[in-house]
Amino acid sequence: MKTLLRIAVQKSGRLQEDSLKLLKESGLHFNNGKDQLKTQAENFPVELLFLRDDDIPQYVEDKVADAGIVGENVFVEKQKNNELVRRLGFAKCRLSIAVPRSENYSGTSWLQGKNIATSYPAIVQSFLTKNNIAAGIHEISGSVEIAPGIGLADAICDIVSSGSTLQSNGLKEVEVVMKSEAVLIANPELDKDKKDILDELIFRIGTVQTAKNNKYILMNCPNEAIEKITQIIPGMKSPTIMPLSRPGWSSLHSVVDENDFWKKINLLKSFGAEGILVIPIEKMIV
Ligand code: ATP
Ligand code: ZN
Repeated sequence: MKTLLRIAVQKSGRLQEDSLKLLKESGLHFNNGKDQLKTQAENFPVELLFLRDDDIPQYVEDKVADAGIVGENVFVEKQKNNELVRRLGFAKCRLSIAVPRSENYSGTSWLQGKNIATSYPAIVQSFLTKNNIAAGIHEISGSVEIAPGIGLADAICDIVSSGSTLQSNGLKEVEVVMKSEAVLIANPELDKDKKDILDELIFRIGTVQTAKNNKYILMNCPNEAIEKITQIIPGMKSPTIMPLSRPGWSSLHSVVDENDFWKKINLLKSFGAEGILVIPIEKMIV
């Protein structure tokens, strides 16, 4: 029987859509929907299992799944025999401590002897230990942000992205305990066939991520500017230069890092570049 790599993804929730999107961008086709328990890619030896995200680290440890996509917060909290094989760059959030807005929070010593409600007891405990604080941890699984308001705890530790949930519950964020994003985890003891499939998938994910961070850039420039422009946007090896029919001018094509683009654009203009076009790249193999 052909080996399949089984990857667990979230059954429903914030991670699901972007997890499937990344796998599709990596060239995997799935034709049946996410309502099933599992589905097999048509053109790649991968089977997806749809599970609750909190259960995925355990399933990966037990080899029910070979790999999985979870929030880093869940990976760190569960402390299972999982290996973090790739950061995926979506579902970015932070796990923070928040206290009632009226409190005069002076630093971690404020937490001494207090009660903290959270769904992440292990992460909170290691934060407290690191800061030499003794505090109670009250584990609850949902709606953590209401705990101080109903007298269940003095503070909370929960996921924050915009802060609006804290705001509407009269809380303020006082400590960032960890930053998180979606991660690909795997069982560290996969057999060779599965490891080969996983490596191919990681390679493909890399090409998608690199492509997203880069843009294809085209411009017209006076010939005397080519050298200066090449220095600031060298591209993958060197830019492509094609003569324009107008004497003394060329069309220059290169690749630019998305994060540097705005810094470089004014320089390019000052060198005399005109008609600058910036185009997304779908896959990039360096
Ligand atoms: P349940 O298990 O009950 O479905 P959950 O909180 O674990 O709830 P989601 O809300 O779907 O499930 O969150 C899944 C993951 O997405 C979290 O573990 C976290 O890594 C990330 N996440 C959660 N909230 C946000 C947010 N507001 N912005 C970005 N990422 C988030
Ligand atoms: Zn969950």
